[in-house]
Amino acid sequence: MLRPLSPQPGEYIRGHAGRLSLWNGFLSAEELLVFLCRRAKKERGAGFSSHVYQLMAPFSELDPQRYLTEHSLLPFCRIGTREDDVFDYHGPTGGQSRSAWMQPKDGAYLCPDCVASDERTRGFSYWRAFHQLPGIDACAAHGKALAVVKRADAFDRPPGSWADARPVNDQLVSLRTTPAVDRYETIAYAFMSRGHRVHRLVAAQCIGMRVAEIGVQTERNGSQFTLADCIREAFPAAWLEAHYPRLYGSEKSKKIVAVNAACSGSIVDGIVYAMALAATFSTSMEAINVFYATQGAAPEVRVSAIKSVKLSTRRDRLLPCYIANEGRVTCIAKALGVSHVTVSYQLRSVGLPPLGRVPELDRQRVIAFLSRASESELDHWAAAGSNIDAL
Ligand SMILES: [Zn+2]
Repeated sequence: MLRPLSPQPGEYIRGHAGRLSLWNGFLSAEELLVFLCRRAKKERGAGFSSHVYQLMAPFSELDPQRYLTEHSLLPFCRIGTREDDVFDYHGPTGGQSRSAWMQPKDGAYLCPDCVASDERTRGFSYWRAFHQLPGIDACAAHGKALAVVKRADAFDRPPGSWADARPVNDQLVSLRTTPAVDRYETIAYAFMSRGHRVHRLVAAQCIGMRVAEIGVQTERNGSQFTLADCIREAFPAAWLEAHYPRLYGSEKSKKIVAVNAACSGSIVDGIVYAMALAATFSTSMEAINVFYATQGAAPEVRVSAIKSVKLSTRRDRLLPCYIANEGRVTCIAKALGVSHVTVSYQLRSVGLPPLGRVPELDRQRVIAFLSRASESELDHWAAAGSNIDAL
């Protein structure tokens, strides 16, 4: 009879398996799993096959789905889904019985300060799932460089037992102060703590629209400006070289046009989605809110929700300049330092009519309305075609 052992908060599933195996007198997690698998087949028939997390969950005192969500890296690694069930990490094909075991980084990562604090307060140290995420080089709690153990059996022993753990490159840790890297970290943690998936199609639309918007703002509209360009501009080259070399450098072959194309070739969805959001939104909070707000609704609703978020944000950004220049395209273009064509496009896309050729009295009426209108009055007026005569 095996003795159960509850996982610690945020404990990585492989580390928990290591502790559980030691606790029950096995030499390694592998040995424990082989034993559990044989026992399950004996009890339920030779054809029975079970996912690793389903075999482990009974000893965690959590239900299997919760165990998987809170302790594996799947909420990050498998965030994009083509299915409607946002909590199913395996999909109908099954087969990937070891995907809960997924370890995207090479080596086992620990924070020396977390280890010291665990040993002081709990009497033992444990492996944290957050530290194993791709693109994470430092502990969010202590701000210090993570250290890595490159041994196949690293997770079979507590992190504190490896005296030869080597800290990651200092330069990588210093890149955390770059805004995009900082946003990436917050977004990656949000993927883990929210614990549910997003539809790939919706995610691609959400990010694709942001890329198009940035392309317009920087006057590089059209097929030339891609998601890869956004990511390369936002992230330091050294960070990309270490974590996603596919995007490092600038050769044409490394271009990625759409986020779904980026993900189809990647074993880890999370890094691509988190990079895309960090590169295209100016705050991680906005990125997370928009990304999750559009999930779960019917496809048409999702699209219109993305559009309305984008529309009102862009309109709010343009409105003060529009009012100050009384809707004259030439003056707005001059004030913003962009071309006449860009301003016309932007005004049209947010429902603000160009007022250069509108009679003086009508122009004053529009400006007076826009200066005092509430958000919903503006939405209604724009939705009805921004008709000047209606004011
Ligand atoms: Zn720490």
